Amino acid sequence: MANRAYNFNPGPSALPLDVLKIVREELLDYSGTGMSVMEISHRSSEYDELNNKAMILAREVMGLDDSYRVIFLGGGASTQFAMIPLNFLHEGKVGAYVDTGAWSSKAIKEADIIGKAHVAGSSKDAEYKFIPKQKDLDIPGNAAYLHITTNNTIKGTQFHYVPETGGIPLIADMSSDICSRQLDYSKFDLFYAGAQKNLGPSGVTLIAIRESLLKQLKDDLPTMLDYRTHTEKNSLYNTPPCFAVYIVKLVLEWIKKQGGLAGIEKVNMEKKDTVYAVIDRYPDYFRGTTEKDSRSWMNVTLRLPSEDLEKKFIAEATAAGLVGLKGHRSVGGIRVSLYNAVTLDGARRVAEFMQSFKKAN
Ligand code: PMP
Repeated sequence: MANRAYNFNPGPSALPLDVLKIVREELLDYSGTGMSVMEISHRSSEYDELNNKAMILAREVMGLDDSYRVIFLGGGASTQFAMIPLNFLHEGKVGAYVDTGAWSSKAIKEADIIGKAHVAGSSKDAEYKFIPKQKDLDIPGNAAYLHITTNNTIKGTQFHYVPETGGIPLIADMSSDICSRQLDYSKFDLFYAGAQKNLGPSGVTLIAIRESLLKQLKDDLPTMLDYRTHTEKNSLYNTPPCFAVYIVKLVLEWIKKQGGLAGIEKVNMEKKDTVYAVIDRYPDYFRGTTEKDSRSWMNVTLRLPSEDLEKKFIAEATAAGLVGLKGHRSVGGIRVSLYNAVTLDGARRVAEFMQSFKKAN
């Protein structure tokens, strides 16, 4: 479509065009109801069906068996930062965290409000430019869980291994890389993701939790903050973000059509290789901000030789129809977010733009 931007926004971000077309098609009359999904009851059979379908699809796409429950909640990934310690931090336990950037730090802050956090690994002293290695992790025996952020949206780093915890539950914030590559999701006991990067629009958070863990959670929690409320009621305890869940279902169907996570991974690998290749060709000009073995496939972060050049780069890219390339306000620079709905063509356009910008500047 001629007027669609090449969208590299960090989140909310691009959605697959095929999904948007279905949404447009079904907007005024969902499944013969004569109403949009926004207008039907969350207690209707139509919503019940799509809610169940979305949960089943999520399990199917990520290869989770029925020992996992999938739920859809509001409140963003940020609410999970608090829900996890609330549900898991029994007396005498600590929450162990690998601190790999701003989002991990926010999760740690919540654990310290509710109980006690232990930093099991950190790259803070190196401006978070790498992911700590397994051998450097220090997971205490009284840890209720180890929490990691699989992809660091702001700093542009990503875990390329799944930590071994010696039987301690592994929890992950996968907000910015869920469903972007093949991964043994069954190594995680609980993981969550705000939908607004790889799964759909903002407003809904997907949480997958191993059912056996539900029996070990703390008692006497506020109802809405207790995972059991939502697993027992199939994410229908209160009014869910129906429209967002509907789009998540469509995105999961789209992922299946791309060949599932194997198909998605293949394209995502080519996309990130295309952009990193330019950084590696001109490392003095396009200065990658992360160590190579920790590079994110989803958020490519870089600096240019000066802030003036960065401003010019962003302005000229925007004028050329490549939007959303500004680095996070806390770090500056350039960030190329290559989430699932960004096409290979989009990644190639950025790479070409980078090279012609360098030539001209
Ligand atoms: N975790 C990560 C890795 C993120 O990138 C973000 C948002 N960009 C969050 C958590 C916070 O998500 P939300 O805005 O849905 O609370």
